[in-house]
Amino acid sequence: MLVRNHAIEIISAAAKYSASDIHLMMRGSYAEIQIVVKGGLRVLKRLTHEEGESIARAIYQSLAKTRDSSFNPLDFQNAQVPGDALPPSIDVSSVRIVRGPSYPQARDGAFMTMRLQYLAGHKGTRQSDLAKLEFPKAPKGEFRLGAMGYRLSQVEKIKSLMDAPNGLILFTGPTGSGKTTAMFEALQEVARTKPHRRLVTVEDPVEYPMEWAVQMAVTGARNDKETGEAFGERVRVALRMAPNIILLGELRGPEVAVAALEAAVTGHQVWSTMHVTDPFLFVERLELMDKERLDRRVFCDHKMVRGVIAQRLLPELCPHCSVPITSKLAVISKRIIEALKTWGDISSIRVRGNGCDHCGHDGSIGRFAVAEVVVTDAAVMSDFIKFGSDIARKNHREKPDSDKSMLESAIKYAFGGNVDPRDIEDSVDLIVAKGKE
Ligand SMILES: [Zn+2]
Repeated sequence: MLVRNHAIEIISAAAKYSASDIHLMMRGSYAEIQIVVKGGLRVLKRLTHEEGESIARAIYQSLAKTRDSSFNPLDFQNAQVPGDALPPSIDVSSVRIVRGPSYPQARDGAFMTMRLQYLAGHKGTRQSDLAKLEFPKAPKGEFRLGAMGYRLSQVEKIKSLMDAPNGLILFTGPTGSGKTTAMFEALQEVARTKPHRRLVTVEDPVEYPMEWAVQMAVTGARNDKETGEAFGERVRVALRMAPNIILLGELRGPEVAVAALEAAVTGHQVWSTMHVTDPFLFVERLELMDKERLDRRVFCDHKMVRGVIAQRLLPELCPHCSVPITSKLAVISKRIIEALKTWGDISSIRVRGNGCDHCGHDGSIGRFAVAEVVVTDAAVMSDFIKFGSDIARKNHREKPDSDKSMLESAIKYAFGGNVDPRDIEDSVDLIVAKGKE
């Protein structure tokens, strides 16, 4: 009974603020109650994990009148609390609930989101009579994409994508390109600058724990079809939590892709990754998943897909043991040399030497990102539909404010003596004559 009263107190406190939602988050070592006031998150209260859990259980079991089934910590469940289960003075006509497991699942992590419906004429308590509530905790540190190798203009482009209220933003690249790390860096910056926005993730598995997000993992799926279905289910759960930002680990099948695009057009900022080599090939990749549901004439809209970022990691040459490409020690194919000559005077280009103490006898001193940030617009999307990716790519890159290709950026690093041209071919693309890329 005591717990039930505590639960009612919490709903009543949220109603005083005229909160639209209550998020009860059990994090393993603590629980936090956040409420959405005038569209922004605030922290109402901190509890122990156990207190949070027993309150969630009390709301589900003894306040809710309609519910999926009896409380099961491992299931995603819906329920509804009728207004007459709550004090009449708070003007709440009903509370819609969605709950389920979330990170850290190994420590019984869970969430419960409650949507509050108010009676007509509800005014809430006067602002001046209410205690000021803090924003949820924001991530520490600073935006590291620049330190990872992104140019300032690219960082600015990504920041502009972060400011868009909705639409899909994709990080692309093959396995090992660091696309997921880059996406999390960006997301972390979003949380740092906008701690009042609800961020929900669906991942397989959770890669970077984020205290400022509700993270749902896809677990126990035995094949791609089951993974797709589990992803789809969790995206639907995520949408019921009234999130501002949704992260989907990877668009790897039609279910996830369709769910991502639907979320993007219904007012959410959606971040995800895609396994594709060229950023302009995201269109082909989506269509290959499902020609019927994923038709470029539908999703090639710059309000739906806002940006596509491609990234690779390049080894940085050790300055102590690298050798000039023109030296006899360098064994480089004629094809590469001839192609590089069309880009400039190759005497500044260096290649891996035999290694030294400075680089652990590896020839390189770490890796950095080379990227292309494509901010879509009406013209490039129209080109995709009318003329295909080749023309869309060519026309877009010719615009004065567009990003260079990763190959062009990488070749520039080679002329700076920082990258072995052979590493460019391993990670980015074949080196071709200038103008032919
Ligand atoms: Zn060295």
